[in-house]
Amino acid sequence: MIRQKTGNNSFLKEFNQTAILNLIRTHKALSKADLAKLTGLSPTAVGLIASSLMEKGYIHETGTGESKGGRRPVLLELKPRSFYSVGIDVDIDYTGFMMIDIKGDIIAEKLVKTPENYAYERVMEFLENETARLVDEYMVGWEKLLGIGVSVPGLIDSITKELVLAPNLKWKHKDLRADLKRFGNVPVMIENEAMASAICENWLGACQGIDNFVCINVSSGIGAGIFAHGKPYRGAGGSAGELGHIVVDENGPKCGCGNYGCLETLASTVSIAEHFKRIIRQGALSSLNSVEDLGQIDLNLIIKAAANQDVEAKRVLLESARYLGIAISNVVNTLNPSKVILGKEFVRYSDFVLDYIRGVVAGKALEYPASKVEIEASQIGEKASALGAAIIPLKALFSIN
Ligand SMILES: [Zn+2]
Repeated sequence: MIRQKTGNNSFLKEFNQTAILNLIRTHKALSKADLAKLTGLSPTAVGLIASSLMEKGYIHETGTGESKGGRRPVLLELKPRSFYSVGIDVDIDYTGFMMIDIKGDIIAEKLVKTPENYAYERVMEFLENETARLVDEYMVGWEKLLGIGVSVPGLIDSITKELVLAPNLKWKHKDLRADLKRFGNVPVMIENEAMASAICENWLGACQGIDNFVCINVSSGIGAGIFAHGKPYRGAGGSAGELGHIVVDENGPKCGCGNYGCLETLASTVSIAEHFKRIIRQGALSSLNSVEDLGQIDLNLIIKAAANQDVEAKRVLLESARYLGIAISNVVNTLNPSKVILGKEFVRYSDFVLDYIRGVVAGKALEYPASKVEIEASQIGEKASALGAAIIPLKALFSIN
C-alpha cells in the first residue's frame, strides 16, 4: 500500500513512513533492498525514510541478513525499548496494568485491587497514580510514552468514545479520556475489554492473520470482541458483542439488565459460584460441605474441588459450559468465524469444559459453519485485555484501525 512520493507532500511522506514501519514490524527484520522490493519505492527513497525513522528512534540497524551475492545486507528492525505504551484493564476485582515497548514485548505488569464500590472519581485517581508509578519505576520518561489504552467492561460509543454504560462498575455516561487529566498530552484511548482481548489475539496471539474471529471473555460478566474482514466490528453504535445478554433460557434468573435468563446469569463466573452455593444449601454432597461460611466459596475453590474429582463442582462447571456452548452455536451460525477464543477467568477452568463446549457447538450449530470454526481457550490468558489495551496506541502509531 505504498505510494510514490511526488513533490514535497508531507501526507505521502508520512504515509510511506508508516507503511515501511509496518513492513518492518510484520517481517521482524528487513534490509533496505527488501523494503524497496516490497514497496516499489526507489532505494534512495527507502534510504531517506529509513534514516528519518532511525533519527526518530523507532528503528535501528541490527545484524546482517543472507547475502544474495556480494556484501551481506544490514537489517532494520523496530528498536526495542525506544517507545512504550501502557495498557490498563479495569475489572471488578483487580485492575491490570501493563507496559510494553514498541515491539510489543512486556516490560512490566501488575495487578492491583480495584477500589471498592468503584466510586468513579476514586477509580480515576487510582488509575492515574498506579500508571504514574509504573512509568516512573521503569524510568521510561513520559515523552517516550506513545499512549495509554484503557479497557473497561462496558459499552463504548464508537464515535464519541464515551463510556455509555458499565453495569458491573455501576458507571453511566463517563468520559474517561477527559477525566484522566494527569496524563497531560499523552493520548488516552478507551476500549471495551472483550474487544481489547480480540485486538491482542490479532496483534500477537492466536488470531494473527485471521480475518473473522470472536473473542469471548468470561468473568463476572460475559462479552465478545468481534473481528470481521480483519477489523474490529462494532455495530451501529459500538455495542456489538454484548453476548452476555443473549437470552439462553427465558425462564432463567433475572439479569442486571432487567431481562430474564441472559447468558451472564447462567455462565458468568459469579453465577457459577452462586449456583454452587445454592446446591450446597439444598443439601448436595461435596468436598466443599466442610466450608463453614458459604460466602467463601468462589470460582477458584470450585475449580480446586473439580480438580479433586468433586462431582458436584464438575457438574456446575459443565452446566455453565452448556449455556456458553448454546451461545457460541448462535455466534457460529450468525457470524461464521474461523476461530472463537475463550478468555479471562474462563482459562482457569477451560480444561474441564472446553471439549464439552466443542461438543455442544458441534451438536447445535449448523454443520457447515461448525466445521469451519476452531474453539480454543486463550493462550495469552487473563492478561489479554490489559495487553490489548497497551497495543491500541501501537496500532495508532502504525495507523492500523
Ligand atoms: Zn442481561
